[in-house]
Amino acid sequence: MTFEQLQLIPPIMKALTKQQYTQPTPIQEQAIPPALEGRDLFGCAQTGTGKTAAFLLPIIQQLSTQQARPNGKRVIRSLILTPTRELAIQIADNAKAYGSFTSLRCGVIVGGVSQRAQEQLLAQGTDILIATPGRLIDLMNQGFVDLRHVQILVLDEADRMLDMGFIHDMKRIIAKLPAKRQTLFFSATMPPEIMSLVNSLLKNPIKIEVTPASTTVERIKQILYYVDKPNKLPLLIDLLQDKSITSALVFTRTKHGADRLVRGLTKVKISAQAIHGDKSQNARQAALNNFKNGVTRLLVATDIAARGIDIDELSHVINYNLPNIPETYVHRIGRTGRAGLSGVAISFCEDEEIPYLKDIEKLTKQKIPVIADHPYPMTMEKPAPAAPAATQKANKASRAPSREGSRKPGSEAGGRYRRR
Ligand code: AMP
Repeated sequence: MTFEQLQLIPPIMKALTKQQYTQPTPIQEQAIPPALEGRDLFGCAQTGTGKTAAFLLPIIQQLSTQQARPNGKRVIRSLILTPTRELAIQIADNAKAYGSFTSLRCGVIVGGVSQRAQEQLLAQGTDILIATPGRLIDLMNQGFVDLRHVQILVLDEADRMLDMGFIHDMKRIIAKLPAKRQTLFFSATMPPEIMSLVNSLLKNPIKIEVTPASTTVERIKQILYYVDKPNKLPLLIDLLQDKSITSALVFTRTKHGADRLVRGLTKVKISAQAIHGDKSQNARQAALNNFKNGVTRLLVATDIAARGIDIDELSHVINYNLPNIPETYVHRIGRTGRAGLSGVAISFCEDEEIPYLKDIEKLTKQKIPVIADHPYPMTMEKPAPAAPAATQKANKASRAPSREGSRKPGSEAGGRYRRR
């Protein structure tokens, strides 16, 4: 299918050509026609599928073909709620790009920055408002936001908004919207809470499910290193000798872990910055910009901070820690191999992460190929699963972190994991 067949208006077609999009993605093919007709939509899709354009293009088309100022002032005609600041900024960047040949105005309301500029934005009026729920509620409580003219509501990454505890804010915001509206609802997963929200908010929705999980996984080269925890940094430094790793998003489990890793890399003059919830919005944005512009080679992130980060041409994703939720692995590695490009996902697995690896492989129905021949093979045999607690303790006690001691390529040290 082509974008022409979706009957998009010339200003949008021009913007898509400028973006060098040649063909709609599956979710765009399925979502754009009903959304243009004004239907409610329930999209089960995650970042990397092209879902942002799937909701933005119909919004831009519908709004730009209407009169912009029904009562003399520009009013909010579409509200897009999204869980994180980064995601909000990215949606706004996309909206500006796709709407660059229309006269629509789009604004962003996020926490972590001064609210003054946001008050001004609201006073001047905007057609499309992209917001995180917390700050929007703050501004609503202060009387700065008028949502009475909203025609199209988007809930983006609804499952993540629930996870982050935004449900009450979301409900309070939605209560201020006209009942007669179009709602476009996107969620990567469909737990019961999401289904009840869908049932209460959407009217006769078109349901679209795209499952990039397996297709993404197939396109991406995955490799796994078994390595002891203290050797993860030396192994990463060793792998980074490979200059083909031009830009890598590195995932750690914790914020502290992200900072520690950045310090370790900086010491050996590998450019890296961390992005996580403890950083100010400006620091996060600066880190993201530096990474996008190639100033830093590595961006170290936690899952929440990285959710929705939109980076083109990411050559590598590195799981410094494996996630304990297997779907998160699929989301993470889906950051590379975007829009038809191939990518590489490197994972480090320490002893305690082996159960996570098993869950991941069960979900993806694939064994991740193991690189056995590396300078820091895992030194210890894993205790047998049925070993009594006392033996496990003894094993753990003997698992003293070794530095150079583990440099035994080809030795039996890596044990059974390396011989899968
Ligand atoms: P999203 O799932 O919305 O985060 O989009 C993932 C990435 O795909 C973004 O970098 C978009 O710019 C890009 N993208 C979206 N639609 C298309 C398309 N039709 N052709 C090529 N790239 C696209």
